[in-house]
Amino acid sequence: QGHSIRPLVAGNWKMNGLKGSLAEAVGVRDALAGPLASISADVMIAPPATLIAPLAEISAGSRLAVAAQDCHAKASGAHTGDVAAEMLKDAGAAAVILGHSERRADHGETNAEVKAKAAAAHRAGLIAIVCIGETQGERAAGATLKVVSRQLKNSLPEGATAANTVVAYEPVWAIGTGLTPTPADVEQVHAAIRRDLSEVTGAEGANIRILYGGSVKPDNATELMAIPNVNGALVGGASLKASDFLAILRAY
Ligand code: PGA
Repeated sequence: QGHSIRPLVAGNWKMNGLKGSLAEAVGVRDALAGPLASISADVMIAPPATLIAPLAEISAGSRLAVAAQDCHAKASGAHTGDVAAEMLKDAGAAAVILGHSERRADHGETNAEVKAKAAAAHRAGLIAIVCIGETQGERAAGATLKVVSRQLKNSLPEGATAANTVVAYEPVWAIGTGLTPTPADVEQVHAAIRRDLSEVTGAEGANIRILYGGSVKPDNATELMAIPNVNGALVGGASLKASDFLAILRAY
């Protein structure tokens, strides 16, 4: 199931220092430009907000799309420090990552807020990349499937389709730690997400991409990609080095 789906690999630069410079972004764009022609996955980079517009500008017409790392739920208003989905769209973003575990932890984002932000992304014409995943404690307690299902159902907005929505399964304990679930565990969670997606979105559910994220590296990308219902990857640390990111892209 899901094998006819075009994979998506998205690099999440987070707030990492060097990636905050335009020179770095130009270097990555240049490093990817040639190889991208022979890679079958869709490719995105989510840079710090200050680089969305320039990276989108220098990548225009290429196969590299730009994503944001967050948006506000409202289209405009008195919200100091926030950026609306419409503004991200205007800056050249194609997608926005929402509900990443770091935002859920650092900013107390709830499922309801993630859902409102995803609806805002759709309203603005952006793809919503909705992140879900259990903590180490939840996994140890055997609650993974229950937690992930509840997050998914409460974070997905009405009208989610394969064209406007991507789900990223990111076990919190696997992010930035070098740890990954076993392939059997990834398969089990992705299969459960697929069932929930079909239940909630009907026919679209079979085609909505489900990315795996959490310590995806060049040396595990091929194994992860071979797992049923894994339709790509959300890559943090390994997206910071063009050669590592390229090696991962080549697995897809
Ligand atoms: P990581 O981060 O690849 O560094 O584990 C993944 C993510 O947070 O999206």
